[in-house]
Amino acid sequence: MRVGFIGLGTMGAPMARRLVGAGLDVVVHNRTREREEGIGADRAASPADAARGAGVVVTMVSDTPDVEAVLFGDRGVASTVPPDAVAVDMSTISPAATREFGERLPCEMVDAPVSGGPEGAAAGTLAIMAGGSLEAVAQAQPVLDVLGRVTHVGPLGSGQATKAVNQVVIGGFYQAMAEGLVLGMAQGLDMDRVVGAISGGACRSWVLENRARNVLEDRYPLGFKLSLHLRDLRIALESGIDLPLARMVRAIEEGLASEGFGDEDVSAIAREARRRAGLS
Ligand code: NAP
Repeated sequence: MRVGFIGLGTMGAPMARRLVGAGLDVVVHNRTREREEGIGADRAASPADAARGAGVVVTMVSDTPDVEAVLFGDRGVASTVPPDAVAVDMSTISPAATREFGERLPCEMVDAPVSGGPEGAAAGTLAIMAGGSLEAVAQAQPVLDVLGRVTHVGPLGSGQATKAVNQVVIGGFYQAMAEGLVLGMAQGLDMDRVVGAISGGACRSWVLENRARNVLEDRYPLGFKLSLHLRDLRIALESGIDLPLARMVRAIEEGLASEGFGDEDVSAIAREARRRAGLS
């Protein structure tokens, strides 16, 4: 089965490399064509060319309008994708737009957003939240299994709705980590020992294990862009459900984005906690 893969950014490039490494027949396309070099796959000149003859077409681009452009724009996926293929969007976008895209596509669609960062993408350990029909998810499964652990959460759109849950939880983790580490630093504790000690207890988490160093060093290399997490919180809050912690983190992220920190890793929300503690 041929796999078309579109979007070779921080996440897409290591994911495409894994598919190639697993021996799948992969053809890649990226808007900035140089990024296709070094993946080790055939290259397609457009999303339409990547989708032609494919059994599964994966999209991994930034945001809702970008998925729309890749699927339905000039030389988009929809113009060539075979009716018996499955379009698998692994970007994080709006659940409502996902359902609308599913209706417009000439083939079945699965939404399969992920959690686990570029580290998980390279290691094939992403948490994949899949929405779609049983048959469509089954068709995509051999591809998704190479990338991580798949949970079929419900019909199309459920994957994105689940990802919104994930992003609300993650926002709380990052903010809590920032406040806790700032408390330790302000008390003059040996923070390597602190992180080592608490990582073995109840607050053990991916965020603490992988991003505490950023907060301690006040450096926030990517990772996952703060501006994208802010977009995800906006998606979650558009639900109309009152989520006080998510609202607070959104306000902090809006402030930091307006100061020009939106392209830093989301752990940069610690800038605000550090500032309030007089640490920077
Ligand atoms: P990224 O590094 O900024 O890469 C974005 C990719 O999308 C690039 O390949 C870019 O092409 C392409 N793109 C953007 N707009 C486009 C458009 N209008 N038409 C065609 N291509 C377009 O982003 P990322 O970190 O890989 O994230 C990708 C998705 O995964 C996002 O939805 C994000 O929320 C989600 N995600 C990210 C992480 C993470 O830790 N980074 C974790 C989980 C989920 P160019 O190269 O031409 O710019």
